[in-house]
Amino acid sequence: MDQTEQERAQKAAADKQDGPKVAVFSTKKYDREFLVPAFEQCGHQVTFFQSQLNDETLLLAEGFTAVCLFVNDDLTAKGVAHLAAKGLRFVLLRCAGFNNVDVAAAAAAGVQVARVPSYSPYAIAEFAVGLMLMLNRKLHKAYTRVRSGNFSLEGLTGFNMHGKTVGVVGTGKIGMLTGRICHGFGCRVLCYDPYPNEAGAAEAGMAYVPLDELYAQAEIITLHCPLVESTKYMINAESLAKMKPDVMLINTSRGGLVDTVALIRALKARRIGAVGMDVYENESGLYFEDTSDDIMQDDIFSRLLTFHNVCITGHQAFLTREALENIASATADNLRLLLAGAECANVVRA
Ligand code: NAD
Repeated sequence: MDQTEQERAQKAAADKQDGPKVAVFSTKKYDREFLVPAFEQCGHQVTFFQSQLNDETLLLAEGFTAVCLFVNDDLTAKGVAHLAAKGLRFVLLRCAGFNNVDVAAAAAAGVQVARVPSYSPYAIAEFAVGLMLMLNRKLHKAYTRVRSGNFSLEGLTGFNMHGKTVGVVGTGKIGMLTGRICHGFGCRVLCYDPYPNEAGAAEAGMAYVPLDELYAQAEIITLHCPLVESTKYMINAESLAKMKPDVMLINTSRGGLVDTVALIRALKARRIGAVGMDVYENESGLYFEDTSDDIMQDDIFSRLLTFHNVCITGHQAFLTREALENIASATADNLRLLLAGAECANVVRA
């Protein structure tokens, strides 16, 4: 047994006796509320940090058995090597994506990575439909008008959802639910997915069509596919030109699906009826923080904020009590299984 192996064995024994030490990064009040009981129930000792984990903040994580990370933490190969040498054994992602961890470096250092692949598709599907309703019935304008004593209804005309055509791009967990809710409104729901689930779609009241047909027919288009190389900027000048005039576009998936500059051009040309976006391609470093005292440096984002028919939210579609509870319990459970050397379906492999 060399020195590293010896230290690992000592650490494993200490974890067994006292409970593993977990450092939670990028902690918000709502994370703490759900993570404390979940970790305590499993006998884990937990320390919360508000800061992100990245190469500059590695010192904070030294000596912990596990780090618990969110979407904007950044665990590089350097970070993994440094922390593995200080006793890190597990990386617990409290999100589905794992692009922010060098998984290959973790595997090489003997550090296991686990994530929460699905926590509550209802949360995101319901939020997407919420954006549709807000934009359609101009609730964002109505709310501020009434608060300032303006009871005029001018400019607040919407349309019936009933009978409209909705296009769902990506029919995984969230897309399927979004389509099902729209079907409940009496919408005609078209969908597209390179890996169709015919039975599921039929059951949810959706019909598969080629993507161009979806673009051409839908009055509302809602994106529910992952951001991968082939989907980057799938909403661009060319695809926007294929859509109906006055189309409503909803993006609760990933900002990089949309070429924001092309979207702004289409908005300025009055080609787009409304845009609801919970995600933005350059949201990292902007979202999840209170920057109201700062000067906005992102001119593209600033331009988007000027359109009365664009509603932007800061990546909050997941934020329901149920989703936070599921994230917390799955994260604590991932650690419990990994510590026990048991099979953990949520392990991310290099
Ligand atoms: P999922 O894996 O269940 O479904 C994704 C679907 O997209 C799959 O059916 C897949 O075949 C399909 N797909 C792949 N490439 C496609 C393409 N080129 N065109 C159309 N469809 C394609 O995923 P999910 O859980 O439904 O999540 C969907 C998206 O929602 C993800 O991008 C995820 O990152 C995002 N999300 C956002 C939030 C939020 O808070 N805003 C929270 C969770 C998930």
